[in-house]
Amino acid sequence: MLIKSAIIRWISDEKGYGLFAKEFIPKGTITFVNDNLDLVIDPKDKRFHKEPYKTILEKYAYNSSDSKLILCWDFGKYMNHCCYSNTLSTGYEFDVAVTDIHPGEEITTDYGGISTGHYMVFSCDKANCRKSISGDNFDKLVDTWDVKIKEALQSSRAVSQPLWDLIPKKTLTQLNKFLEGDAKKYVSLKKQQPK
Ligand SMILES: [Zn+2]
Repeated sequence: MLIKSAIIRWISDEKGYGLFAKEFIPKGTITFVNDNLDLVIDPKDKRFHKEPYKTILEKYAYNSSDSKLILCWDFGKYMNHCCYSNTLSTGYEFDVAVTDIHPGEEITTDYGGISTGHYMVFSCDKANCRKSISGDNFDKLVDTWDVKIKEALQSSRAVSQPLWDLIPKKTLTQLNKFLEGDAKKYVSLKKQQPK
């Protein structure tokens, strides 16, 4: 489920829709949580290997930690990629704002961490854009994300968290151990990524 302070807006024929902040979203805010209404699809299910499902899933689904395809029921599926995104997917099955996001700013994530495995071209207009997903070194990428995520999570208890109740209890227990100072309890997306 996407945070309510995100609204959908048409950007361009190339990019399609995108999500924008309706109000200030401080760093450390959980912006998206995988919830029970999201569709969970087995990538081996042959019904979805043909059109129109194939293209829809390639465009809108993301890869879960247990190698399933997740298709969000709400506007979460319209979140665009940016190589310098203001939110990041975490090993806790939620996304967190890694910078303050100001009203009107596009809310973005990095597809490198949630790829469904197919080739994807990036067009985020940043000077050091990675251009496509094919050349991504996942472990190296996640190392840089973990620094940002850990820092953002330190602010997570100090900011308003409208999606907090959707986080499973087991995940909260893991998160709380990290927040209470046990650095070893941090869950990196790296550990969750299917090989
Ligand atoms: Zn880029």
